[in-house]
Amino acid sequence: MSTPAEKIVREIRLNPIVPSESVLVATARSLRPKKAEEPAPRDTRAHVDTCPFCTGNEHMTPPVIAAYPGEKNWEIRIVENLYPVLGDDRQNPNLTFGLQQTIDGYGRHEVMIDHNKHGIAVHEMNEVHLALLFGAYRDRMEQLYKSNKRLRYVLVFKNFGPAAGASIAHTHSQLIATPVIPDNVQAEVMNSRAFYHKNHRCIFCSLIDEALTFEATIYDRESGEIHRKINVGQYVIERGKKFIAIKPFASRYEWEVHILPLQHQGDFLRISKDDLADLAGVMRRTMARLDAVLGGAQYNYFLHSLPHDVECTDCEASYHWHLEITPRTSIPTGFELGSGLFVNTVAPEAAAEKLRAVQLD
Ligand SMILES: [Zn+2]
Ligand SMILES: [Zn+2]
Ligand SMILES: [Zn+2]
Repeated sequence: MSTPAEKIVREIRLNPIVPSESVLVATARSLRPKKAEEPAPRDTRAHVDTCPFCTGNEHMTPPVIAAYPGEKNWEIRIVENLYPVLGDDRQNPNLTFGLQQTIDGYGRHEVMIDHNKHGIAVHEMNEVHLALLFGAYRDRMEQLYKSNKRLRYVLVFKNFGPAAGASIAHTHSQLIATPVIPDNVQAEVMNSRAFYHKNHRCIFCSLIDEALTFEATIYDRESGEIHRKINVGQYVIERGKKFIAIKPFASRYEWEVHILPLQHQGDFLRISKDDLADLAGVMRRTMARLDAVLGGAQYNYFLHSLPHDVECTDCEASYHWHLEITPRTSIPTGFELGSGLFVNTVAPEAAAEKLRAVQLD
């Protein structure tokens, strides 16, 4: 008899926070429409003489904005992006015609060199360093918000490995500050606010509670067969004192994992020093599990936090910041681009079980 996790799943799962971001979970092999080609291996060298982000080549980067712990002995270094997608130098006012509306490309685009070792992966960094890294994200986000009132969102993200679109092999993150709130963040903020007004609860807190305590068996009305069994902790990948890593029930990507603070917190900028240490541990262990299961994970991750905008001033109780990690194991097809409906070929329950089964040292 097959366990529920091995059963063929073919269903459209609704994202509880943003229903329009739903996913077709289709585990039948014949439905597998896409398999990314074997990704180019990532660069694991510690130092590369010609790399502008390696130590000794500091003169090759644009001017430094900040360095941790200091400029001479840096472990993390923030610099301007050499090819920014947004800039603060635009002189010309917008010209709009009919429906051809534009808003100017005002914003900031910065690069954070995450480590002085060229090809180090997140799970290979020690937890003291990871706490420093997430503290650097927080500091720089705060400074950017303060630097200009027009900036309403600072997106922190990381592309790791060629399969995830990283153009420079040296491990780095990026910060993009924009005068508009990204659509997917806006949808999360607005939908969670509506949920809060109706239920007087944060929907993310409710999801964490469900992941931790929910237990149910759903039977078929006619045959009495078990439709779905939900076990305690079925979606939990890792947990610390203050953070939890969850495999979302409606994951759009096969190995997608979200990390959230266990206690409600709307704005990542409020994270404390203790929190950073715990987050570092949960992050390192989660990434180690992903790397072990995938045999070298190439991924994107990004932070979703409360936008700094007048529209969101009442959303601190209803929004809950989180980190979304999306390893790249397949490429979107025409079906996905055309329908907006993502296909996930690994049942999230089975993925969670595999990730939990990894023995960490
Ligand atoms: Zn390098
Ligand atoms: Zn919450
Ligand atoms: Zn999100």
